[in-house]
Amino acid sequence: MSLPQGPHTAPHSEPPSPPRSELQRALHTRHRAVLPDWLALSYEQPLEITHGEGRYVWDAEGRRYLDFFGGILTTMTAHALPEVTKAVSEQAARILHTSTLYLNRPMVELAERIAALSGIPDARVFFTTSGTEANDAALLLATAYRRSHQVLAMRNSYHGRSFSAVGITGNRSWSPTSLSPLHTLYVHGGVRTRGPYAHLDDAAFTAACVADLEDMLGQTRGDVAALIAEPVQGVGGFTSPPDQLYAAFREVLQRHGILWISDEVQTGWGRTGDHFWGWQAHDAAGPPDILTFAKGIGNGMSVGGVVARAEVMNCLDANSISTFGGSPVTMAAANANLAHLLAHDLQGNARRVGGLLAERLRAASAGLDIVREVRGRGLMIGVELVFPSTGDPSPEAASLVLEAAREGGLLIGKGGGHSTNSVLRIAPPLSLTTAEAEAGAAVLERALHTAQHELS
Ligand code: PLP
Repeated sequence: MSLPQGPHTAPHSEPPSPPRSELQRALHTRHRAVLPDWLALSYEQPLEITHGEGRYVWDAEGRRYLDFFGGILTTMTAHALPEVTKAVSEQAARILHTSTLYLNRPMVELAERIAALSGIPDARVFFTTSGTEANDAALLLATAYRRSHQVLAMRNSYHGRSFSAVGITGNRSWSPTSLSPLHTLYVHGGVRTRGPYAHLDDAAFTAACVADLEDMLGQTRGDVAALIAEPVQGVGGFTSPPDQLYAAFREVLQRHGILWISDEVQTGWGRTGDHFWGWQAHDAAGPPDILTFAKGIGNGMSVGGVVARAEVMNCLDANSISTFGGSPVTMAAANANLAHLLAHDLQGNARRVGGLLAERLRAASAGLDIVREVRGRGLMIGVELVFPSTGDPSPEAASLVLEAAREGGLLIGKGGGHSTNSVLRIAPPLSLTTAEAEAGAAVLERALHTAQHELS
């Protein structure tokens, strides 16, 4: 089943050309010839997306797709949101960028908003241009504050692509070098459903992870700088630990003076539905010492950043600026985007529509033995796929579903643990309507049946 293309199809497009035209093939060839092999592309015949509106995007041939991946969790509210477009074009017409050496009104306004929303007392905000750079800045702060380059990270984690971010990335398929300026110890807990503790109930799982953490700390000189964790692992396949795991960890960390960094690059701004930040599912811990963000806040503009209480943020005693971090045009986009998100309670929408969508996908998966689990929080839903015969993770099934969904006019992502890439990742813009959720679920149901059929 395909999504109807409808009157809405291709607002700027011309008579339909054959699918996957020669032009796209030629562009793909040129891409391959000049860009790195490790710059992953989705789909056997990669898409060229030319424009978007609401929850939809269009490819170069005028074909419309429901965007269940929100770019790559980068379109938080909606594609071409009028307030964001207006804010960007008005700011661009005034000035694109000068320098952080001058006062910057949109940056101060956004910092005030984020500081207030962060839950961190006496918060200071530093803007970067990506999640990687935000985590780098967090590591810089934590290691300088604690005068140690030892850090703890979670197994299966992903924190970015710089030299130091790779050094805290436990997901081997996303860490292209094992060299690192940091000494990192990887602890259990990010994944509830795999690994040695998977058979335990939540309380016993939490206790086992805490024991693992204590054991790891026993192997250090006691001068660990920080523990960094994604509240819900993103690239790792939308896996959540039991609620309050990080509260239990925090208790241990505080005893040793170790900072807790919550990487909210995927989980921030209400995406998880019940909470504005992912860390709030572990609220007994109180707010993290350091919080990092990026992806959706700019709705496609490159905005990232780090929040920390003043004592931690101000521990650096030399200048450290980001030439483009806080650029006025990106700040204008983020201010407008955040205002829209709050005014329209898109967190509440993520909870309601995400809940319906997850239920609908569970119902669609009943009787399909390629589906191991439909899990998620809000509009961050993972569908874990396995080989029907063995129950092992099945990247093949995920690829089949992705291709079939695309044929039906639906874009989704995938991810998962070490080299498995067997989890479908669903993270649409937070303004997704019930009707759109239903339409996308119907396409996904067909795609799952196709994969089940091919693999049986
Ligand atoms: N942290 C998390 C949790 C992420 O998912 C990502 C990107 O996927 C990053 C950090 C890195 O962000 P960026 O790609 O903007 O550098």
